Amino acid sequence: MRGEKPHAAGPRFGPAGVPPECSGILDALPFVKGEGLSAFEMEFVQGVKMGPELAGKIGKLAGDLEILLSCHAPYWINCCALEEVKINRSVHHLKDCVDVGQALGDPRFVIVFHPGFYLGQSSAESGKKVMSTMQRVVDVIREKGLRNVVLGMETTGKQSQFGTLDEILGVCSQMDFSVPAVDFAHLHARGRGCMRTEDDYLAVFEKIERKLGATAARGVHCHFSELNFDPVKGNERNHVPIGSASPPSPDFMPLAKVIVKNGLSPVLICESPLQDKDALKMKAIVEEADAAAKK
Ligand SMILES: [Zn+2]
Repeated sequence: MRGEKPHAAGPRFGPAGVPPECSGILDALPFVKGEGLSAFEMEFVQGVKMGPELAGKIGKLAGDLEILLSCHAPYWINCCALEEVKINRSVHHLKDCVDVGQALGDPRFVIVFHPGFYLGQSSAESGKKVMSTMQRVVDVIREKGLRNVVLGMETTGKQSQFGTLDEILGVCSQMDFSVPAVDFAHLHARGRGCMRTEDDYLAVFEKIERKLGATAARGVHCHFSELNFDPVKGNERNHVPIGSASPPSPDFMPLAKVIVKNGLSPVLICESPLQDKDALKMKAIVEEADAAAKK
């Protein structure tokens, strides 16, 4: 498989979506490359509106620039919905993302999505439903013979959503073509401000390693930003720029130190309102941690 070692060169950093200076993804890829970034997450949160021709051009350009692509699937996906019609619609949206992944021909294409809402169902019931819905998409990936496309289940930021780290890892350990997408800001909000120290971050990677193995843990797909959240109820409010919250919420430096000390190679997508600029800030913080470790 081409790109079997997409993370061999260390952590990758990139924005979620097209920076404001750019007119579209084809314009954004050389722009972010020029800035020093090497990952890019396409935002399909309001729907997948990309045909195979454009996707092919984007995949070729990203390959030439050595930028790793991923996408964020539509927000309204709910793999444990109560109504069959909503499940069918969720499968449809994920299949649309798979089609894009096929046309891209990218080495590794993570389709990030929020698995769903409990809607009164238990964690176990929701998990079963999420898996049966995902299985329909996995069947398509298999029928198409794709090896580059994986479903990236995101850790979610609200108590009403399926998607604690344990729930996500439980599903991923039982399903092919599924990987965790760790949103640290969401973990922090949901855990009422739990991501504070290096040990807190390291524990996330160790848990992934125990459940899915060392390779999955080292190269995990991540989202990072600071955010406002309700510390009593444990719900996210909104993402904010890196360094704007006081104290930082969550702080990127302890994560940077964990990455450096353990030689990890995650893909770090910045979901702050400043996208590429904050992705560069994150990259600089990792470089700072690296320099400090070598002293
Ligand atoms: Zn998300």
